[in-house]
Order: sequence, then structure tokens, then C-alpha cells
Amino acid sequence: MAVSISEALDIIYQNTPVISTEILPIEACLGRITAEECIAKFDLPRFDNSAMDGYAVKCSDAGSAVMCDGTLYAGDTPNMSLEKGHTIKIMTGAPIPKGCEAIVPFEKVTIQNNRVLLPALIENNAHIRHMGEDIKSSVVYLHKGEKINAYSIAMLASQGVTHLEVRRKIKVSVFGTGDELRPHFEKITPHQLYNSNTPMFLARAQELGCEVRYVGNSGDSVDSLKQTIKSAMDADIILTSGGVSMGDKDFTKEAFRDLGMKTHFEQVDIKPGKPTTYGKIAECAVVNLPGNPLASMVNFEIFVRALIAKMSGSNAHYHGTMQTQIAHDYPMKGGRHSVYLGHFDGMSFAPLSRQLPGMVSPMYKANAMMITSPSLTFLQKGSTVKIIPIGWNIYRCQKEDFFTK
Ligand code: AMP
Ligand code: MG
Repeated sequence: MAVSISEALDIIYQNTPVISTEILPIEACLGRITAEECIAKFDLPRFDNSAMDGYAVKCSDAGSAVMCDGTLYAGDTPNMSLEKGHTIKIMTGAPIPKGCEAIVPFEKVTIQNNRVLLPALIENNAHIRHMGEDIKSSVVYLHKGEKINAYSIAMLASQGVTHLEVRRKIKVSVFGTGDELRPHFEKITPHQLYNSNTPMFLARAQELGCEVRYVGNSGDSVDSLKQTIKSAMDADIILTSGGVSMGDKDFTKEAFRDLGMKTHFEQVDIKPGKPTTYGKIAECAVVNLPGNPLASMVNFEIFVRALIAKMSGSNAHYHGTMQTQIAHDYPMKGGRHSVYLGHFDGMSFAPLSRQLPGMVSPMYKANAMMITSPSLTFLQKGSTVKIIPIGWNIYRCQKEDFFTK
């Protein structure tokens, strides 16, 4: 019996263990998930320092002309102190001298007869960066289960961290099934077909941070399938497409079962992609996707993405949606949970006009998908819809004023 989309996702989340860890230099951790809590070893900044190039002053000297006693540079040891009626020239990042109450930027003073004329009003602590105001010693500044990006690498480096325990890359093995299929680098006859699914999944799994292996293509026989499965078994996830529906030569599930696969579900109430199957063969997760390219892509985006996210150790492994409005009136068949690919331009979501399960070309135009409930048969232009992004970033061809005002 078919499970619902939510049930299928729950089954995947429940049956997917988090991948093991390895220790890497922080420079090699980009895109990885942390396996440890990162606790600050010291305050950042480590000492009070100047936020501007200017003068270290006492607030009570506001409006008067003071004597300059010297200069403090970033990297200097803080061994100077400040007396009333005096100032010390100070550069950004230099330690605040003892007795200093504020920094007055260069542009706010006037030099008169070798003295520095200060402005009439000086606020206490102005332009001073205080010890620990950025990161306090002993706080958790990066949580277990977070994805490392350029900015977390900056935090790690600022704490003098050289190595980090992260989740290792997930190994994904992919193969296609079908006697009619040939790899894209071979010559084909008019009735054969290039395997476009396997290169697509290899690329997408790589985009999602996995290490991938092209296992090849299996013919439509249980023996050929079993041979191919055996050579894919060193992976964490085996991903196949084709041979899972009702055809006379659809042997994918049978071959996996013969090799000991435990099936968790073998049909989902989804359009397109009902025959999507998920199971486990030893410790390896298996997803058999439909052969039709667009159907397999949609089910990859819903189920395989969730599987990879959970296995990766990421805390954020649930699909997030964005609410937007639909760009034009959109009639639908209804009756099943249905997935529609479309393009979100930052203001509205436009479902692609022609998107049939067997097509290849609509996929590259889509950057989001909408999943509708069975009762929905019409969406009026401007109605609120929820969309799940596919491989975000929004870029525009025209220049845009991107400032928030
Ligand atoms: P199947 O589920 O094996 O019956 O395949 C359904 C349809 O998808 C058939 O038209 C297949 O030729 C096509 N198909 C299956 N696998 C692939 C693939 N890897 N690349 C492109 N098309 C495929
Ligand atoms: Mg087939």
C-alpha cells in the first residue's frame, strides 16, 4: 500500500543513522556538518581596543586642546597610560591605554599649535571595542549539527582552532536500469536512449556535498541488476532509477530483495513518482526512483535530499518552505498529492507550463517546487502558495536595488 509523502519522509528520518566522523583542518571543513560543540577558549576581542583611527581621550577633556604623548599601533603591547589634559594617538585595533575613556576619530579633531582640539561632546566608551563583546569565553559559538560555511570558518580561525571533528562525506553510488539506455559518451541507434538520470543524480548529490560513484548501467534482467548492485554496495546510499513500476521487465526491486534488501516502503501517494521505493541492504540505504526523468528528479528532491540531510548529521534536515504568491491562474487535476516545478523570481512562483513525468527539459528551468493537496484543483493568480527551493540562489539578469530601506 502507498504511504503518504509525510509518512515516507518520517520512515526515512527514523531509519537513517548519522554518518561517522573524521577530523579535518578547518580549511577543509567547508560544507561539512560539525560533530562537536565549539566552546570559546577566550574572549573575542581578547582586550579592549580602538574601533577607529583617532585619539584616546578622557571625556572630561571634551572641548579643550590636549597634548599628544605618542602613538599606539595595532599589535603594540598595552603599556601606556593616559593622564587628564593629554591624549594618545591610536590606530584601529590598538590596545586601549590605561585611563582612556573614549576614542575620538581623526576627523572630529583640529590640530592647533601642536595640540589636539577635541570636540565639545565626547560620549563615554565611544569607539571602544570591549573585551568579549563579540564572543564570550566559554560560550558555545558553533553548535553540533551546524553546517560549516565561510563565516563559521572565520569564527573557528578567530579562536585559533586548527582542526574540527566533522561528519564525513556520504558516499553515493548511482546506476540506471534499462536495456534501452546507453551512456552519453557512446554512439546510439535511433531506438536507444541516453541515460540522463544517472549523470543528473551524480551532479546533484555532489552539489549536496556527497562523494559520488558512477556504477554504470544495468540491463533489465535480475542477474544483470544483481551484478550491478553488488559493485555498488560499498556506498552509504545506492540510488537507482527505472524498473520499479509494473512493466514485464521491471526487476529492480526483485534483484535488491534477492540480495537481502529490507523494504521500508515501495509506493508513495505522489504524482509523479508513485513507485518510489526505499529500503536498506545491510547498512546501506537504497532508493529506487522511477525511470521517467522528471518524476525521478522530483522524488530525488523530496526523498533523497531528506535522506542525505538526515545522514549528514545536520540539525536542519526538514524541508523548509517559503510563502509566496502564484504568478498566474493555475488549474490542476487534483486527486493526489502533486508536485509542480516552477520558477520563483523573488516575487512570485510561476509553475512551468509543460511538465510531464517523462520530460527532461523542464527540470533545468525550475528553481522551486510546490506540492499541492488532493483537494486543490485551481489556484487563482496571487494566491499564497508554499514552495520548496531547489538549489537556491536567486540571481537576476537585470541590476536590482537590493538595499533594505
Ligand atoms: P521504467 O521505469 O524503467 O519503465 O522507465 C520509464 C521511462 O523512463 C522509460 O521511458 C525509460 O526509457 C525512461 N528511463 C529510465 N531510466 C532512464 C534514465 N536513466 N535516463 C533517461 N530515461 C530513463
Ligand atoms: Mg526500464
